[in-house]
Amino acid sequence: MKLDILVLPVHPDDAELGCAGTILKHIKLGHKVGIADLTRGELGTRGSAEIRDREAAKAAEILGLTVRDNLALPDGFFQNTQEYQLKVIAAIRKYQPEIVITNAYHDRHPDHGRANELVEASAFLAGLRRIETFDTDGQPQEAWRPNQVLHFIQDRYIKPDIIVDVTEFWDKKIESIYAYGSQFHNPDWNDDEPQTYISSPDFIEQVNGRGREYGKSIGAKYGEGFTSRKILGVDNLFDLR
Ligand SMILES: [Zn+2]
Repeated sequence: MKLDILVLPVHPDDAELGCAGTILKHIKLGHKVGIADLTRGELGTRGSAEIRDREAAKAAEILGLTVRDNLALPDGFFQNTQEYQLKVIAAIRKYQPEIVITNAYHDRHPDHGRANELVEASAFLAGLRRIETFDTDGQPQEAWRPNQVLHFIQDRYIKPDIIVDVTEFWDKKIESIYAYGSQFHNPDWNDDEPQTYISSPDFIEQVNGRGREYGKSIGAKYGEGFTSRKILGVDNLFDLR
């Protein structure tokens, strides 16, 4: 199943926080977009891996994804090593995306920066035909290298290389974040479990503030920022705003 854009975030909910507006916008433009979470987020303080599987499926429905996959790498302990690169390479070859989007290149949560390095390395290696990987039926996969690897921006401020106007999709983005009822502010959540950095109402206010800040800098209400290790080009100067 070929996708136009494949998002490879380390935790279920990272893609929603980082680039749900951009996902929604490109689906509306007619592109096929999927998410393959690298882990099930099993080390999260609240909820459980099973609960997060259900929440991720609910968010996928809100976003209108073509597919939501999970590579089941070990949350917190995966490394940028051959063992894990081969799993990410197989996912990239399976979905053959032109654009890969992944985590911020550095952040408060150390998994985010490590996932960024793992996905960057794997996106390059996926294009080398001498690296053998197999699909679930045991058939050899063809080499595939995406044209672009973009990184969304999460907790720590990073100056973006590009910003996408997502004003029209902001409410839906917030709805997709709240699909993770165990993680974010939820007065109905059974509170035997501790509050966390992300479960306070302040956290969503900060998400909104970040969106407004990026939006303002391109003359829009809400924006999502991205960085790239590669210099980015445009075909037409009038695509710039
Ligand atoms: Zn995360």
